[in-house]
Amino acid sequence: HVSTKPPPEPSPLRKAKFFQANMRILVTGGAGFIGSHLVDKLMQNEKNEVIVVDNYFTGSKDNLKQWIGHPRFELIRHDVTEPLLIEVDQIYHLACPASPIFYKYNPVKTIKTNVIGTLNMLGLAKRTGARILLTSTSEVYGDPLMHPQDETYWGNVNPIGVRSCYDEGKRVAETLMFDYHRQHGIEIRIARIFNTYGPRMNIDDGRVVSNFIAQAIRDEPLTVQLPGTQTRSFCYVSDMVDGLMRLMDGDNTGPINIGNPGEFTMLELAENVKELINPEVKIITVENTPDDPRQRKPDITKAKELLGWEPKVKLRDGLPLMEEDFRGRLGISRKK
Ligand code: NAD
Ligand code: UDP
Ligand code: UDP
Repeated sequence: HVSTKPPPEPSPLRKAKFFQANMRILVTGGAGFIGSHLVDKLMQNEKNEVIVVDNYFTGSKDNLKQWIGHPRFELIRHDVTEPLLIEVDQIYHLACPASPIFYKYNPVKTIKTNVIGTLNMLGLAKRTGARILLTSTSEVYGDPLMHPQDETYWGNVNPIGVRSCYDEGKRVAETLMFDYHRQHGIEIRIARIFNTYGPRMNIDDGRVVSNFIAQAIRDEPLTVQLPGTQTRSFCYVSDMVDGLMRLMDGDNTGPINIGNPGEFTMLELAENVKELINPEVKIITVENTPDDPRQRKPDITKAKELLGWEPKVKLRDGLPLMEEDFRGRLGISRKK
């Protein structure tokens, strides 16, 4: 017998929280790349108190140094696979390594983070009445057979591959979100994030934009993985943060794609980096890794219609901003 009863109404406590002026906002994974930019933006609003929870696996305190000691800011070293008992009104749940080399490093831990970590944050949302946003990923579409990908597409994912800890982990995380929503009336938001780039990316995390920029600055050849015709669509981090906040503060659960529909082959990306950053640098081809999706481009119709959002920063404008940050961290200035 399948129950058809509608999800429970939000409790008066939860409704009251929504209208309350001061917001206590938890950002899990807030010491990471996207999380720290989100924290910067949230802290600009004087009505927000921001709590970051992070285990520093791929993130760093350095990304938050501007806020440490601020009266509206708190940083907690904590692993989301362990229960967390605090009082909050909103949860941005980002904690999870995002780069293939890091999420493949300890795949079992990656699954625990996605499954147990998300379960714990949903338990916290249930106890406190907080609204929770999950940063899911375009990887839930796997190696997509539909192009571009819209949110109705169920994906083409290998359940036993080396990327599965991440892809399937995020798919279960999405399932948990919807089950808590249907079963317990939790207010959920799901963003499916497409490749994002910008300052504070890990320099050596193996992702393509960070690799190419670091290589160009270091005068090393740009390593295009074969065949080089595979595509990605890159969103600048300030656009991403804007999209995530609109989703959290709006009325739609999602899932909603957030990404930049400008699509590039990896060879085109390398040529852009070469032209903008180091015209002398060589471009070489190298072996690829298993299960690499051949194409990826978001259909952002839903984000445009429901959130009034679309990305503003073009790749050719975003790359130089990232170059500046990388030069600062690598201590290599531009040749005259
Ligand atoms: P990141 O690696 O810079 O940030 C992740 C943060 O989570 C790090 O600070 C890390 O230390 C922390 N973390 C990892 N496991 C944890 C755990 N068990 N407990 C507590 N903290 C933990 O990655 P990012 O690029 O900022 O990604 C943030 C979120 O966005 C992730 O959920 C990722 O899956 C999602 N996402 C990112 C991209 C992208 O292109 N960057 C694309 C799709 C989805
Ligand atoms: N949880 C948490 N913080 C809370 C409430 C719950 O970390 O404030 C964890 C709790 O330890 C559990 C998970 O979230 O493992 C799911 O909680 P829920 O109450 O939904 O399930 P139950 O505890 O009944 O299994
Ligand atoms: N890639 C590349 N050179 C590199 C690193 C990655 O050509 O030095 C390619 C990789 O084969 C993939 C694309 O860039 O097709 C994006 O890879 P990344 O790891 O950045 O992200 P994801 O695969 O998660 O989209």
